[in-house]
Amino acid sequence: MKLREMLLAILLMVCTAIPGWAQNDNDTEPPQAKNVTVATRVLPPFIVPGGDSYVGFSAELWTELAKRSSITFAWKETANVKEILAAVDSGQAQVGIAAISVTSEREQKFDFSQPMFESGLQILVPTTGEEGFSFGRLLGTFTTGAMPYLLGILGLLILIPGHLIWWAERKHASSPFSSHYFPGIFQAMGWALSAAAGQQNDTPHSKLGRFTSITAIFISLLFLTFWQAELTSSFTVQQLQGGIQGPEDLPGKNVGATAGSTAAVWLKDHSAKVTEFQKIEQAFAALEQGALDAVVFDAPVLLYYAANQGRGKVRVVGPIFKKENYGILFPRGSQLRKPINEALLKMREDGTYDRLYSNWFVERN
Ligand code: GLU
Repeated sequence: MKLREMLLAILLMVCTAIPGWAQNDNDTEPPQAKNVTVATRVLPPFIVPGGDSYVGFSAELWTELAKRSSITFAWKETANVKEILAAVDSGQAQVGIAAISVTSEREQKFDFSQPMFESGLQILVPTTGEEGFSFGRLLGTFTTGAMPYLLGILGLLILIPGHLIWWAERKHASSPFSSHYFPGIFQAMGWALSAAAGQQNDTPHSKLGRFTSITAIFISLLFLTFWQAELTSSFTVQQLQGGIQGPEDLPGKNVGATAGSTAAVWLKDHSAKVTEFQKIEQAFAALEQGALDAVVFDAPVLLYYAANQGRGKVRVVGPIFKKENYGILFPRGSQLRKPINEALLKMREDGTYDRLYSNWFVERN
């Protein structure tokens, strides 16, 4: 070996021995890119458990971003968005991803990537108690409130005058009723029913018959007026109860959201009675059991649920009333943010982002 080659070989050995000078797979790789802990939380369709890892829009987006930026990572599952923020804040995780909304308050403490998803808050209500006509609702009006009593009174209004009229008129020569109890009583009750409905009838011949008929018609008139009022108000009450149409109907209502979410903050600011759940599925279950009037949460999560497990049980009402963007969360000054932002923009440019989006959000039926 010539001297020059020997010197070069020695120089090469020295260089590779000095830490930091060693040639990596990727020269631009930031030193923080190895064994990154990524805090997340299960939230379909963004993070969906799939075997020993996750699938879902955010999980697959992050996996691709990490691959493109030569980041090796391990997931750390937390219960809710508050815990993701806490994990990144305390240094237990170097990245947070799920459906984390970028807010000015969070921006004060953390760094966010470029927006990774356009979202916003919307309202989910149960399909029962829906406004508009349904046969079930009409039947329901007969079994709720004062209705069962009113129906009982209607029965008596036919039964009592029917008997009195039959008894008073049965012997009369031109009586329209048979003198036998059957079928005479049915004829008399038919007479009483049409009298109650305001139908013109043969005038009874006996004094008792006339008295009974006038009294029955008078009571029936009062009754019908009362019934009509009751029917109208029971429809109105149902409309009010099932009548959440938009955010203006939420104050004072029992509404569910997830712990520490932007939805919970909005609801508290707008005087709704908020219940905060760890998992959004718990809020959906409470809604379906009638414990909540509505769930307010991120629109894509609500729409995904309403189109899948919640189909027929819940529906989304009103538009997105507060727009939000999701971002990937980093601690302040993280060196991972720049390569991730670049990779994210490239994914948008080369169509990978759109393919991933339509895999999870475009309905195919
Ligand atoms: N977008 C919501 C937030 O960031 C999601 C909350 C959650 O993960 O439950 O507050």
